[in-house]
Amino acid sequence: MSATPAHLEQLLHQRVDACFVQAEARLGRTFARPRIHCNMRGRAAGSARLQTWELRFNPTLYQANQQAFLDEVVPHEVAHLLVYALWGEGRGKARVLPHGQQWQSMMRELFGLEPRTTHSFDLTVLAQRTVPYRCHCQQHQLSVRRHNKVVRGEARYHCRRCKQPLERELQEPVPAE
Ligand SMILES: [Zn+2]
Ligand SMILES: [Zn+2]
Repeated sequence: MSATPAHLEQLLHQRVDACFVQAEARLGRTFARPRIHCNMRGRAAGSARLQTWELRFNPTLYQANQQAFLDEVVPHEVAHLLVYALWGEGRGKARVLPHGQQWQSMMRELFGLEPRTTHSFDLTVLAQRTVPYRCHCQQHQLSVRRHNKVVRGEARYHCRRCKQPLERELQEPVPAE
């Protein structure tokens, strides 16, 4: 799992808040802020848990597509929460579809975005396997190539910030090179 650098995590929180401020101004009411987790894995960029009012984001895709992620994925997921707050799950035949009319109008009218449900992110980052290492100040991701050099005793890497040698963080099965 790749740790999200603190400043990126902060930008994500700020963007979520900005979406809510925008929504509140337009809709004339306030909303509780959701809990935000940046721990999603796999190919999905984000998800909204409606009942528990939480947003989850994929740190790997975020780091590889920062601007697009903040511009599109965050409002996309916030719009899901807003639809739930305003319409619930719908009643009877008037079910609220996840990317239905209400969600689309949130995207268009509130955020001025095309209501797209797919993104054109660089997914190749998901295939790049890395191995977590640690120094005294932060987590590092070493490529499998570098990791195998460490294992074979051919190289030792140091943190540029604290100058400490990197130590293996977890005992996971070693990915093949
Ligand atoms: Zn969605
Ligand atoms: Zn360090």
